[in-house]
Amino acid sequence: MRVLGIEGTAWAASAALHDGDDVVIETDAYEPDSGGIHPREAAEHMHDAIPRVVETVLEHAAETTDERPPIDAVAFSRGPGLGPCLRVVGTAARALAGTLEVPVIGVNHMVAHLEIGRHAADFDDPVCLNASGANAHLLAYRNGRYRVLGETMDTGVGNAIDKFTRHVGWSHPGGPKVEQAAKDGEYVDLPYVVKGMDFSFSGIMSAAKAAVDEGHAVEDVCFSLQEHIFAMLTEVAERALSLTGSDELVLGGGVGRNARLREMLETMCADRGAEFYAPEPRFLGDNAGMIAVLGAKMYAAGDTLEIPDSRVDPDFRPDQVPVTWRSDEPY
Ligand code: ATP
Repeated sequence: MRVLGIEGTAWAASAALHDGDDVVIETDAYEPDSGGIHPREAAEHMHDAIPRVVETVLEHAAETTDERPPIDAVAFSRGPGLGPCLRVVGTAARALAGTLEVPVIGVNHMVAHLEIGRHAADFDDPVCLNASGANAHLLAYRNGRYRVLGETMDTGVGNAIDKFTRHVGWSHPGGPKVEQAAKDGEYVDLPYVVKGMDFSFSGIMSAAKAAVDEGHAVEDVCFSLQEHIFAMLTEVAERALSLTGSDELVLGGGVGRNARLREMLETMCADRGAEFYAPEPRFLGDNAGMIAVLGAKMYAAGDTLEIPDSRVDPDFRPDQVPVTWRSDEPY
């Protein structure tokens, strides 16, 4: 079975081909000239780059098989994400599926962040911490759906970090720059906001900006920002493991590329005898590989869409998705 995946919720115009074993991914990233992601510019990028990345993965597949391999289905990121970007990707997927005369599959982007880790780790029933740009939440499977156990009460974790770095004049994306600067930093006190399994980043962001404005070294604020934010995520992840009884934690999303976050989660899991898995970096940030891999599972379960029902959903929550591809009983 071969599934073509297309991703385009925000910045990554990405296509992937999954043939059951291998996943070939081609991504063309939108990089804003200044500031953060501008929805119209990002959609224009999708419009230009999606045909290119699709062509590239198909050509790559032809190199290994001497001819263009048959495609069984086209999977696309249906949401959540930026409406203008999603509409371009949805249109591309419908057009391709129509041309190839194959079904179209609408994949929830956040469930794909989770499933790529569960798939690679071969975990049965993990808690998933999705730490991405626009989101931050904990998911676990129960009664046929991935339930949201806890989430950010305001901004996503990567977006919070990026807002801070814009304030200090660094280009987007800010996460990797904070990670680098934090290596030379020392502790500054910042707010720490956890309520049960929910959490908030807006206060800590304002305090971090103010700390720099008041003269604290930016390296110190970066260090403390990481220590606070990642400790919050580690605390709620541990609470979720404890309350569900799961002994498996999987990490998803682009902030998962941060070595300090992975270190904290790994230590917490080791301390309580749980297993921890973070996918390889190419599967952490937005990528079409995770869309193709979950798309293949949905296709095998017969979970395809009729074209009139295939509209995108910028607010598509993970717990709206009936999990058709798992045959196991819920715990
Ligand atoms: P979503 O997946 O929720 O739709 P998104 O598309 O913005 O959001 P991702 O592609 O998963 O998110 O991740 C991008 C985010 O990851 C950016 O905010 C970026 O700053 C952050 N990021 C990338 N690398 C690192 C790192 N090493 N440390 C911290 N943050 C990082």
